[in-house]
Amino acid sequence: MHKKLEAFLTDRIRNSGPVDLSDFIDLSLTHPQFGYYRHRDPLGCAGDFTTAPEVSQLFGEMVAVWIIDLWIQMDRPAFNLIEFGPGRATLMSDIQRVGRGFQGFTDATHIRFIEVSETLKIQQKEKLQGSQISWHDDLPSIPTDQPAIIIGNEFLDVLSIEQLKRTEKGWLKCAVNQDKNHRYVYDWVKADDGLQGYLPNHTVSNVVYEISPARFNFIDECAQFLKQSGGAALFIDYGHVRSHFGDTFQAIRKHQFVDPLEEAGLCDLTSHVDFEPLRAAIHELDLKSPECVTQGAFLNALGLSQRIGALQEYANKMKAEGQVEKADKFLSDLESSSHRLTAADQMGDLFKVMCFYAGYDVKPVGFDA
Ligand code: SAH
Repeated sequence: MHKKLEAFLTDRIRNSGPVDLSDFIDLSLTHPQFGYYRHRDPLGCAGDFTTAPEVSQLFGEMVAVWIIDLWIQMDRPAFNLIEFGPGRATLMSDIQRVGRGFQGFTDATHIRFIEVSETLKIQQKEKLQGSQISWHDDLPSIPTDQPAIIIGNEFLDVLSIEQLKRTEKGWLKCAVNQDKNHRYVYDWVKADDGLQGYLPNHTVSNVVYEISPARFNFIDECAQFLKQSGGAALFIDYGHVRSHFGDTFQAIRKHQFVDPLEEAGLCDLTSHVDFEPLRAAIHELDLKSPECVTQGAFLNALGLSQRIGALQEYANKMKAEGQVEKADKFLSDLESSSHRLTAADQMGDLFKVMCFYAGYDVKPVGFDA
């Protein structure tokens, strides 16, 4: 565990008892001094995990098609393109490249990033030099006088959860505590009544339910924002479209699963996103949110195979011009990365795509309205 986080937790447990799982996650990931995300680039082979935009340009290109199509349906307004947790800005630069092929798109777009990592902010600035772009601490600091399209890939999964369990002693929640030997352990303590409102209507005893007030508040904030500004949101993440029980809390370091209690502050802590209550909250606010789709289905609906066809043609031209080795490498990378993005046993089924929109009578591509 990160030494400063360890000292902080020891002190906190001594003074006020076991630490809620959600606090443990928030402190580990985003504490200003020692939070995992604050001062590092966690992405890529040399980092801890790889995301879809880092796997292939195909991902960002399909997201670009989704955004541009929507922008055309909205009648090509000047708009804010807001991204949460943009990482290395790879997704945004792929969107920009596609956007340059559509007259008026680049000039109409004001990019706004919400990013907690100082290290990644520097990379984002370098990558998108010359663009109309600004950084914000949160959504309320962005004006609503223009429509907005909000996106986030692998952002919802970093927002914290609580784990709850119904036992003969009532509802208990998971907390982090220390045993006699000062080792960190999970402890089940009485759950505050307020948390039960986040649970599904029918529950079973003695199994773990994960709830996320943080994701709920975040999505509520996005929905309220879009109600004022008009526009749409697209979130892509691993998770399920129907609520069910099960422990999905995980820690990843250097592309391996590790023990969260051992490595907190030095690893990514995430959990699967339960999209069902998030969409229910969106509907309560009278926004439209069609059923989520899998990442594989989404990318295919946006024309992935046509794009692969065009890139293959480009590689074949390279071959004809004598660049055989380069073209073969390009073709094999193309095949393996598209497989990784869409195959059911890779990212294709596990990752889901959620969209919601307000103020425009649009039909987002890839979803059944
Ligand atoms: N979207 C990128 C990166 C995903 S990793 C991609 O797909 O490659 C999660 C991203 O969210 C990182 O950029 C991380 O620094 C950022 N992040 C984590 N917690 C955050 C928070 N509370 N607010 C804003 N950004 C956050």
